[in-house]
Amino acid sequence: MTALSPLLKQATPVTIDHALGTEIFDVDGNRHLDFTAGIGVVSTGHCHPKVVAAAQEQVGKLIHGQYTTVMHQPLLALVDKLQGVLPSHLDSLFFANSGSEALEASLRLSRQATGRPNVIVFHGGFHGRTVATATMTTSGTRFSAGFSPLMGGVHVAPFPTAYRYGWSEEEATAFALKELDYILATLTSPQETAAFIVEPVLGEGGYIPGNTAFFQGLRERADRHGILLVMDEVQTGFGRTGKMFGHEHFDVQPDIITLAKGIASGFPISGIAASEELMSKAWPGSQGGTYGGNAVACAAAVATLEVIEEEGLVANSAERGTQLLEGTKAAAVDGIGDVRGLGLLVGSEFTAADGTPDTARAQAAQQLAAKKGLLLLTCGAHMNVVRMIPPLVVTAEQVDEALEIWGKVL
Ligand code: PLP
Repeated sequence: MTALSPLLKQATPVTIDHALGTEIFDVDGNRHLDFTAGIGVVSTGHCHPKVVAAAQEQVGKLIHGQYTTVMHQPLLALVDKLQGVLPSHLDSLFFANSGSEALEASLRLSRQATGRPNVIVFHGGFHGRTVATATMTTSGTRFSAGFSPLMGGVHVAPFPTAYRYGWSEEEATAFALKELDYILATLTSPQETAAFIVEPVLGEGGYIPGNTAFFQGLRERADRHGILLVMDEVQTGFGRTGKMFGHEHFDVQPDIITLAKGIASGFPISGIAASEELMSKAWPGSQGGTYGGNAVACAAAVATLEVIEEEGLVANSAERGTQLLEGTKAAAVDGIGDVRGLGLLVGSEFTAADGTPDTARAQAAQQLAAKKGLLLLTCGAHMNVVRMIPPLVVTAEQVDEALEIWGKVL
C-alpha cells in the first residue's frame, strides 16, 4: 500500500478538518489553539474571509500565467502593494514560490552583482533545505546531514547570542563583530565576499533577536568593502515581529530582502526585493521558474497585505507579542534557562542543570501542550526551544488562554 514518507513525522497528533483564525478543528471535532500558524505562514489567521474571497475569485479568472511568458494583473497589483510597505530604495521585485528559492535568488544576485564567489552567514541561521541554502544553514546539523559535499564558498561568523555565551548583549556583539573581522582578514577576503546573509531574528535557530549595534556593524563593514547586506525576512516579514519587517527594529538598510511565509496567508509565494540598479545586474535567464508569482497566490498576497493594514495587525503583533513574552517569562520554571523573542516570535529555551540543551523536556512540554489543546513547535539546534508563533490576528483572550495552558504544562 502506498503511504506517506516516514520522514513526514508530525510534531502534533492533529489531523485538521477545518480552521479559522487562530483555531484549528480536528477530524474528531476537537478545538486546538494554533500557536504554530503553519510555521509562521497564516499571518491573517486561517481562512480569513477576505483572503478566501480573493483567491476564490482569482481561481475563476486565471490560475496560472507564467510571468516570463505573459504578465497578469494580480502580480502587478502585488508589486504595487509591496511598494507601499517596503523600504523605498528596494524598488524592484522578483517572485518565486518558497523561502529557500528566495534565498537562492538572493545568493545568485549577490554573486552576479559583485562578481565575488563567497558569502558569510551567521551561526544559528536557517535559510532553507536546497543544497545551497542548506550549506548556508547552521541552525542544526540535521538540515545537511548525509548529502555532502555541500556548496563551497560559505563562511560562518558568530551571531550575538548573549545567553549561550553567558555574556551581556554588548559583549556578545563585540565578539561577533571581532570574529567577523577575523574571518574577513583570514578565511575570505572582502574582495572575494559577495554578501552577508543574516536573519533579523534567528528563527529556526531559537528565536534570538539581533541588535542595533550588530546590524549597524554589518552595514558599516558592507559599505566599507562593497559587500551586500541580505536580510532574510522569510520568517520575520509582514508584521511578525511587531514592525512590518524585522530589520526596522535595528535602524539598518539592507541591500536585498527575502520575502515568503506571512506574505500570502498560506499560498506559496516568495520573493526578493532590491534596488532596480542591483536587480538589473542579474543575468537574463538566471532568475525565474515555472510557478513563480502564481496568479492565485498573488491575489491572496494582495488581500493579505490589505487585511494586515485594515485590521492593524502589525500593531496587534507588537501588543500581543509583549503580552505573550511577558506572560511566558512569568510562567518560566526551573529548567527554562531563557525566554526571549520579538513581536509574535516567543521562545522558551529548556536547559539542563549542567547548562546543556534539554531536548527531552522541551519535546515533552510541546507534546503535553498539544494534549491540552495548545499547538506549539520546537526550534533551536537541539530542538530544545519551545516556540510560540500564533497568527497575527490572535486576540488578548487567546493569548491568556494559551498562557494558562502553558502554565499548567510547566
Ligand atoms: N529563511 C528563513 C529565515 C526561514 O525561516 C525559512 C523557513 O523556515 C526559510 C528561509 C526557508 O523557507 P522554505 O521552507 O519556504 O523553503
